[in-house]
Amino acid sequence: MNDPRRTYWLSMHASYGCRHAGACCSSGWAIALEREKVDAIQLLRADRGWLLPAPGAPTEVAGVIAYGRGGRCVFHRDGCEIQRASGHDALPSACQHFPREVLIDPRGIFVTLSHYCPTAADLLFEHHGPVEIVAGPPAVPGGTPEGLNAVDVLPPLLTGSMLMDHEGYAAWEAHMVQTLTTRDTRSPEEALAILDGQVKSLQRWRPGKSPLADAVRNLRDDCADTAIPEPFVSVTFFPVVKRLLAAHAFASWMAYQGNGLPSVVRKLHLTLATLRMEVAGLRDRACGPLTASALKDAIRQTDLQLVHLADRDHLARRLSGWV
Ligand code: SF4
Repeated sequence: MNDPRRTYWLSMHASYGCRHAGACCSSGWAIALEREKVDAIQLLRADRGWLLPAPGAPTEVAGVIAYGRGGRCVFHRDGCEIQRASGHDALPSACQHFPREVLIDPRGIFVTLSHYCPTAADLLFEHHGPVEIVAGPPAVPGGTPEGLNAVDVLPPLLTGSMLMDHEGYAAWEAHMVQTLTTRDTRSPEEALAILDGQVKSLQRWRPGKSPLADAVRNLRDDCADTAIPEPFVSVTFFPVVKRLLAAHAFASWMAYQGNGLPSVVRKLHLTLATLRMEVAGLRDRACGPLTASALKDAIRQTDLQLVHLADRDHLARRLSGWV
């Protein structure tokens, strides 16, 4: 049972700490800055050239931080000048959060990571064994967690006409993570085929006999009823790719933005398909077997597209068959 006051992480992410790789500071992103943080940052500069207008931004936003050649933030000089001078609290909220992706719902605060961050991507390779959902540190050190706030909305859909309850969804979320991170020799494609079959099975559940959470716990993992595509990575990398999928299954905004259970699993297929394309692109440019370093690059590009560049609302409508 979750505690709504607590913050939950995947065990492989719980030790995350910034190692100052600088990817987020040199990507040419428009970093919005909250008005109350302007004065402290202004002390670091003689002029106001560092803050650009942001027409149409919410009223609490003063502007966006300028960046220079190569998309490098003007404050990125051997690390972040703002953090060095005034600490983590002084950073724009976007910088405090990266690479954390936060879902807040009546069960609690759920944090997954964007593996566009090289440090987060490393955690996919460094973890060993099954991944669990664990209570962990606050989502954002020194800040207020922001993300998808689903506290006051209905629980995710089981079918087009039936909602899950939060306990049932929590059981399904834990089930996805477990299915994706146990059995190291099971391919990512097979794991998704199993989840596909289980979605169909679970959608036949009806209220009355037993709680939805029990139905989730009683699912069998031998109900893959579709042809399973050939894996595109060697068995050595199955656990790494499945951990990436688990990170997209956990704290999923898609559960609330899309049509619930089906859209969450479709998003996992999209994640795997995007990674497959990224790996194919790398193979076109380099010969020889896929290396861990090349897979890490492909994972970073996958999350760049799906977490940072995609229009998530539109994606949710597409994956739900609403457009
Ligand atoms: S403000 Fe600091 S943390 Fe944010 S992008 Fe610029 S250098 Fe990086």
